[in-house]
Amino acid sequence: MIVCKFGGTSVQDAPAIDRVTAIMQRRLPEQPIVVVSALALVTDELFALASDTERGQPRQVHRALERLLERHRAVATTLKVTSVVPAIEGGIEAIRLRLDAAAGRALTPEERDWLVGHGELWSARLVAAALAAAGLPACWIDARKLIITDQRFGRATPDTATINGRAQAELAPLLASGSVPVVQGFVGATPEGRPTTLGRGGSDFTAALLGAALGARRVEIWTDVDGIMTADPRIVPEARTLPSATYDEAAELATFGAKLYEIGRASCRERV
Ligand code: ADP
Ligand code: ASP
Ligand code: MG
Repeated sequence: MIVCKFGGTSVQDAPAIDRVTAIMQRRLPEQPIVVVSALALVTDELFALASDTERGQPRQVHRALERLLERHRAVATTLKVTSVVPAIEGGIEAIRLRLDAAAGRALTPEERDWLVGHGELWSARLVAAALAAAGLPACWIDARKLIITDQRFGRATPDTATINGRAQAELAPLLASGSVPVVQGFVGATPEGRPTTLGRGGSDFTAALLGAALGARRVEIWTDVDGIMTADPRIVPEARTLPSATYDEAAELATFGAKLYEIGRASCRERV
C-alpha cells in the first residue's frame, strides 16, 4: 500500500480536487490511503476566529464563518457532492455556538484544537465524496479514531504503538477490500476521544505515521512545488529541485529551515 498526502493548495478549490481525483485514479492499483490538509488558508482563518473571539468581536466571527461555509459549499456544488454540505453546516453552527459562549475570554488549548481541526474535517469529507462521485471506492475515515496522542493540545505527541494497532484494525481491512480511505491530516485525539492537533503543518506527519503503521511502500507528499529543493524557493528564487535526496540530506535541509517534516519509509514531493 501507499499513502498520498495532499496539502492545502492541492485541495484549495474544485479544479485542484479534480486533479487529486485524477491522480488517485492512477494510484488505485497500489492500495492508496489519502491524507488531506484543510483547503488553503482555512486553518489560518480558523486561528483568526479564535483571536477574534478572545477580543470579543462576535460579528467578525459570524462573517468569517459565513465566508468559510460559502467557500466549502461552492466547492461541493461545483464538484456535485452537495451531500456533504449538511455536515459542514453542522460544524459551522457548532463553532458559532461555542465561540459565542466564549466571547471575550481566552480559549483553552483544547478548545482551540477542537476549533482549528475543522478545516481538515471539511476537506476530508469533500475529497472522499469527490473521489466516490468519480467512481472510486472512497470513504472518509475519521483521524480521531486512528491518530491517538497525548494531551499536549496544540502540538500533541502521537502514541505510535496505539496508532499502529488502530491503523491495522481500521484501515487494513478496508484496503484489503479495495476501499480508498480518506483521512484528515493534522488532527488526532486523546485515548478518551478529546480532539488534539499535531502542530502547524502536521498533515505531513499524519501521512508518515499511517505509512509507518501499515508498512507503506511509499509516502507521497503532493504539494505546489516539483520536489525537494536546495532551499525555500520563496526566499531563494534560484533554488533548484534536487533529482534525489537521502534521508540525511533531507533532514539536514529541514534543520536549516526547509519545510520538510517527518518522512516515512520513503517520500517524495510532487506538484499536483
Ligand atoms: P502544503 O500546503 O502542500 O503542505 P507547504 O506550504 O506546507 O505546502 O509547503 C510547500 C512549500 O514549501 C512550497 O511552496 C515551498 O515554497 C516551500 N519550501 C520550503 N523549503 C522547501 C524545499 N527545500 N523544497 C521544496 N519546497 C520548499
Ligand atoms: N492545515 C494545517 C496547517 O495549516 C495542517 C497542514 O496543512 O499540514 O497547519
Ligand atoms: Mg504543509
